[in-house]
Amino acid sequence: MAVEGNERGKAPAVDEPTVAVLGLPGFQLLEVSEFDGELEYLVETTDTLVGCQRCGTIARPKDRREVVLRDLAHADRPVRIRWRKRVWCCVDPDCPAKTWTEASWLAEPRRHLTNRARTEICRRVGQENASVALCARNFGVGWHAAWAAVTDIGTPLADDPERLEGVRAVGLDETMYLHARRGRRRVLVTGVVDVDTGRLLDVFIGREAADLRRWMATMPPPWLDRIEVVSVDPHEGYRSAVVGADPATGRRSPWGHVTVVVDPFHLVRLANQAVTKTRQRVQQEALGHRGWKDDPLYGIRRLLLVGAERLGERGWARIHDGLERGDALDEVTEAWIAKEKLRDVYLTDDLAIATARLDDAIAFTSASKVKEVKTLAKALCRWRTEILAHHTTGASNGPTEAVNLTIKSVKRCGRGFRNFNNYRLRLLLVAGVRWQTQPVTRLRARPRLIARKGGGHGRGGQAA
Ligand SMILES: [Zn+2]
Repeated sequence: MAVEGNERGKAPAVDEPTVAVLGLPGFQLLEVSEFDGELEYLVETTDTLVGCQRCGTIARPKDRREVVLRDLAHADRPVRIRWRKRVWCCVDPDCPAKTWTEASWLAEPRRHLTNRARTEICRRVGQENASVALCARNFGVGWHAAWAAVTDIGTPLADDPERLEGVRAVGLDETMYLHARRGRRRVLVTGVVDVDTGRLLDVFIGREAADLRRWMATMPPPWLDRIEVVSVDPHEGYRSAVVGADPATGRRSPWGHVTVVVDPFHLVRLANQAVTKTRQRVQQEALGHRGWKDDPLYGIRRLLLVGAERLGERGWARIHDGLERGDALDEVTEAWIAKEKLRDVYLTDDLAIATARLDDAIAFTSASKVKEVKTLAKALCRWRTEILAHHTTGASNGPTEAVNLTIKSVKRCGRGFRNFNNYRLRLLLVAGVRWQTQPVTRLRARPRLIARKGGGHGRGGQAA
């Protein structure tokens, strides 16, 4: 399709629906060609009357300069836009402006991607956790151009203070960032999660008290004040920074007022670990090797971690049989009972009942001779208040764990990260930003497919 360029006035009427469909307001489409499965639009702006940026005199069109941009795909075909940019010049010989090239909403100067293509790359990387390399390939640009789109558009989204609004309870949990290598210790990062919505609020390097204090110092004090509950895994570093004063300055913690909760997930995991460690030690001591397929304890290694109320008749029979043959001193049995007693704490919402059950679990584990169970007893004593706080606040770190899974998938998708700031941005875009995309009407609803005159350009894929 070729349409005469019209220098004086409006673009020809026939072109308006086309421009609306393509979402190119302010442009006229001169030509569409297709080769090798790619579409190419030849366009120019409809501006014909432009004032000089410096003196305001009506400018004179001087020249055309063509730029080629990569745009959003259209009807499954990659799109190139060939934009015949106007070069204007000022007619006033004394004006310092001389000549300039026109600008438009379509693309920033010297970019190879249109703004909406860049927004789409950022959205895919964030909302869909697509890899930057894949986006770069899809848009026919280099990795750096695609990543620049992610940082330019994503950073304001990640830094938006509105993201932090309305948070009442946060969860802290660590994930691996870099594994240990020769000459480098492993690096852990802490994720800060809004426990009520499961959104990632921030990540920082480290998981010790000093790391958490450093991060708190970067957060707005009124925001820290509004937090009521902090949910942690049973790790002393977090608790001492949340509750205790800074040993370096003696200043009280900005979170001195919050209720610290140890969440059920981590506690049950601790109890499960006690069962597994006991089983492995007993196995090793009795048979002199790690579990083999037909060893009695090895055969029930997973069943031992299943909650008692979920064991069927066959499960019970297998556990009894396995323990009878492999657990001569009843050590694994004891660890298993300890785990079940701890799980019982969470089978009630009643604080008094939960307290009684926890104290029963503490008494049982403290009296045990099994060293793994004794270790568990120590943890239960140390965290008794925080364990019971679960029943008063109802806070759980479950959402934090869900975010941890997302974090792992981001890491896999990024094939490992070396730059922490890039890593943080990726994580926040995937797990911390609410993506608002154009809602799609149901197909059976009222049809609205008539392109309006001078219709606005498409809003699909725009991040807000
Ligand atoms: Zn001028």
